[in-house]
Amino acid sequence: VVPTSTTIPPTTTTAAGGCAVPPRAKPDPNRPHYVLRVDVRPKEHRALGDVTVRFTPDVPVDRLVFRLWPNGPRGAASGAVLTASNVEVGAHPARAERPDPTTLVVPLGGMRPAGQQLEASMSWELALPRPNNDRVAQIGDAVRLGSFFPILAWEPGVGWSTDPPAPGFAEASTAPTADFDASVSVPAGLDVLASGVADANRTRWHVEAARDFALSVGHFRMAEAQAEGVRVTVGVDAAVTDSADAYASKIADKITVLTRLFGPFPWPVYTVAVTPQLSGGIEYPMHVMQGPNTIGRTTTHELAHQWFYALVGNNQGRDPWLDEGLATYAEGRGENSLPSILATAVPLDARGRVTQPMTYWSAHQPSYYRGVYVQGAQAVASLGPVDRVDCALRIYVAANAYRIARPADLVEAMAAVFADTTKLATFGVTSSP
Ligand SMILES: [Zn+2]
Repeated sequence: VVPTSTTIPPTTTTAAGGCAVPPRAKPDPNRPHYVLRVDVRPKEHRALGDVTVRFTPDVPVDRLVFRLWPNGPRGAASGAVLTASNVEVGAHPARAERPDPTTLVVPLGGMRPAGQQLEASMSWELALPRPNNDRVAQIGDAVRLGSFFPILAWEPGVGWSTDPPAPGFAEASTAPTADFDASVSVPAGLDVLASGVADANRTRWHVEAARDFALSVGHFRMAEAQAEGVRVTVGVDAAVTDSADAYASKIADKITVLTRLFGPFPWPVYTVAVTPQLSGGIEYPMHVMQGPNTIGRTTTHELAHQWFYALVGNNQGRDPWLDEGLATYAEGRGENSLPSILATAVPLDARGRVTQPMTYWSAHQPSYYRGVYVQGAQAVASLGPVDRVDCALRIYVAANAYRIARPADLVEAMAAVFADTTKLATFGVTSSP
C-alpha cells in the first residue's frame, strides 16, 4: 500500500511581508512516470533491477536518450559500471546505441509527434565501486545510490540534454519532474532511506512530482522530527558516531526558517542518511546523503537544495550557479553566515564568470567553489537588502516550481523586486528578462 498523503502544499497567493508572490506553478500533468525495481546486493558488490518509463514529449522526438551517470570519470575511476540490457520500446525489442559511456540512445525509427505517449523499459545492472567519496559508493554494508539508474535526460520544451559528465565533486544531470514508484530490496538487517513516501517496511517508495530518485542503505540509527507538515527521518550508519537526533532537530528547525524565506517545503517527507567516507553532502529530491560531522552548514546547504535544484531545477552542466549559488545564499540566510560569504574573495579566473558551464570549471577546479557557490550568492545579494533578495527568490521559486529554470528566469524574478538589475552584469549575468 502506498500512502497517498502526497498532495502539494498550499501556496500563498497574498502579499506576505510586502512581498507579492504569485501562486506556485503546478507540475506538468503529463510528466514522466517511472516504475523502478532496485535489488541491492552488497556482498556481491552490485545492484540490479529494471526500469519502465512512460514519457510524453512536448516537442517531436526521433530517439530516447537515457543517461548512465555512474559511467562518468569519477565513478569509472573507482570501478562503477552501469549497463543496460533488454531495451524495449512499446513492448518491442529495441536497438540501443552508446555514443559515449554516460549516454544510451534508443532510436525510434522515425519522428514521433509531440504529445504522443511512449513507453520504454530495460534491465540494468550496476557494479558497485570501491569505497569512494561520491554518490555511488559502497563502504562495508553501507551503500549510496545516487544518479544510479538509466534516467531520461529531457528538458521540457527544448529536447535531450547531452552535456558531458562533470569530473569533480559535482554532477551535470538534467532531468524533468516525474513520478516514481520504486521497490527496493536489501539483505535482511539492512535499512533503506530514499526519496519519497515509504510503506511501513521501507520497501516501496512513491515519489510524486520530483526530478530524481536516490537511496542509501546501511545499519541506521533512526530519528524523526516534524516541521511545517514535513516528516523528517534521519539515519546514521553504524560506522558513524554522529547523533541522529541532533540532525533531525536541526533539520526541523531549518525547514521552518527556509519555508518562511522561500515558500513551503515542496514534499511531505525528507530523509537524510549519514554514511561513512563522504565529505559534505549530496542532494536529491527528498533524500540527501551526508558524511560524518556535517551537521553544520552542510545540513542547511543540502536542505536549501530542496528549493534550488529539486523544486526549481536547472541544467547542472550548463548553469551550475543557479542551484549552487542560490543554495549558498540560502545557507547563508539559514546559518546567519551571509556576511562572511559576501566578504569572500573570488579568484581572478572566476571573477565575472559566474554563468560559466561545468566544462569551464573542469579546467578551473580550484576556483569552482568560490566562482560558482560564493559568487552566485554574491550576485543575488548585490542587488539590495536581504529581505528584498529573499522576496525575489520567493517569486523565482513560485514562478519556476517543478521546471528547469534558466538564468533569464532568475533575472526576471529579480527585476520584479529591483528596479535596477544592471549590477548582475559585473558577475557575468547578462540575460535580460
Ligand atoms: Zn550544493
